[in-house]
Amino acid sequence: MSGLHISMLGSSSAGNGAAIWNDYGAVMIDLGLGQRYLEPRLSRFGLRFADFSAAVITHLHADHVREPTLRRMRRERVPVYVHERAFPILQARHIAAREMADEGSLRSFGDEGIEAEGFEIESFPVSHDAPGGCRGYVFRAKGDDGDKIIAYATDLAYADDALVERFIDADAFVLESNHDVEMLENSGRPRELIDRIRNTGHLSNDESAEAFGKILDGSRRPPKLAMLAHLSDECNLPELAIAAANRARGARRVGDVEIRAAKRFEPTEPFRV
Ligand SMILES: [Zn+2]
Ligand SMILES: [Zn+2]
Repeated sequence: MSGLHISMLGSSSAGNGAAIWNDYGAVMIDLGLGQRYLEPRLSRFGLRFADFSAAVITHLHADHVREPTLRRMRRERVPVYVHERAFPILQARHIAAREMADEGSLRSFGDEGIEAEGFEIESFPVSHDAPGGCRGYVFRAKGDDGDKIIAYATDLAYADDALVERFIDADAFVLESNHDVEMLENSGRPRELIDRIRNTGHLSNDESAEAFGKILDGSRRPPKLAMLAHLSDECNLPELAIAAANRARGARRVGDVEIRAAKRFEPTEPFRV
């Protein structure tokens, strides 16, 4: 498969992972899926662990990084990158992370970003209540006809102008669309949990769609793919998330943007960016 591809390997509060790849290399985003599930999902697309030149972590919540998956990366010799603020905390929590840091296969990065074979990776802070903060990413890599950009942000409490700026003119993006506010409010969950999700945790369908609109307004050409991610099982439906994004797109009369919702327990078909 030539060209630049992306698949969400699994996306939910039960576990997160995504892969982007081209002829030159591959990058994994987050290590929150069980390593036993990862292998068959990757092999569906003809990918092996050895193809990955890097794995990047958004933040340290348990649905984004797991000890056994870290250990698997170590065994497969895939370097794992984590932001410098989260670097010591990851090591304090995971034996595998300490071992990898000692060997040099767990690497911290700051403002300078990450160089991985075939990929230029920039990172930016996003608002999410995780120890050590949470990062969004912008990947630059070769596609069929020149360099392509994929922007990625999940999880986040709000999408500010700085985030929108990063997403403008991306060829594809992944953005959280976590919950429908009404479903969340009527979920019967404790008030503190609802407030945490709304205020410091996760982006609602409406907030995600609003950011999508701003991204479209700022872009010279619309992205080919808008992937909605980290949908809540109890407080969202894929059709609601997609409908909200579609309204933002429709209001701007923008043509062919493929709007997809990532699935919880199975990978999305690879999208050629
Ligand atoms: Zn999460
Ligand atoms: Zn989180």
